[in-house]
Amino acid sequence: MPDVKLAVRNDVLGKRRALSTESRKQKSQAIVGSLIELSLFKDAMTIATYLPLTSEVDLSRLLRLEHRSKCFVAPRTLSNFELSFHRVTPSDMLEMGFGGARQPTEVADLVPPSAIDLFLVPLAACDRQGNRLGFGKGYYDRALADAPGFKLGIGFHCQLLDHVPSDSYDVPMNGFLSEEGLIQF
Ligand code: ADP
Ligand code: MG
Repeated sequence: MPDVKLAVRNDVLGKRRALSTESRKQKSQAIVGSLIELSLFKDAMTIATYLPLTSEVDLSRLLRLEHRSKCFVAPRTLSNFELSFHRVTPSDMLEMGFGGARQPTEVADLVPPSAIDLFLVPLAACDRQGNRLGFGKGYYDRALADAPGFKLGIGFHCQLLDHVPSDSYDVPMNGFLSEEGLIQF
């Protein structure tokens, strides 16, 4: 259902872009603040985060706050729309990947998805059943297909919808965290 997904994706991303830079910054800080208080975060040793594109929730403060106590990894985009996860610290070199997102370099330590306790998953939209709409390439659907870790969608409240179209290969989220707090599915 590419057309239905495309329409919903464009609509929500339009709302996200309409938030001011200052509002996105404040909401992102609130999200990081509540994330680090969650037991599912405290209990996780290895955490997959992401390096934000322009209007996405910016979790970069998380890495600066918590990198001494936990192992953080971030995705690299591969050919065939696959992802590999590599260790990141605040001082690591980054390079440009798909769509202009920064990513760890090839030489950064590779961590298999099976070793990741918590995935912080960027998204275009999420509904109240945990269905996730990504950015249209299926990167996270492939990467999370067999991953046992907790999948926490991260977004602004305006990205939470009553219903998101989904297909059999879409990997559902176990929770959604926004500036309005956590929902678990
Ligand atoms: P997104 O999740 O980024 O919003 P879609 O759900 O529309 O994007 O998926 C994009 C494409 O990725 C689809 O054409 C789909 O066939 C493909 N895809 C998704 N998951 C898998 C998978 N596990 N293996 C192979 N192809 C997949
Ligand atoms: Mg999908």
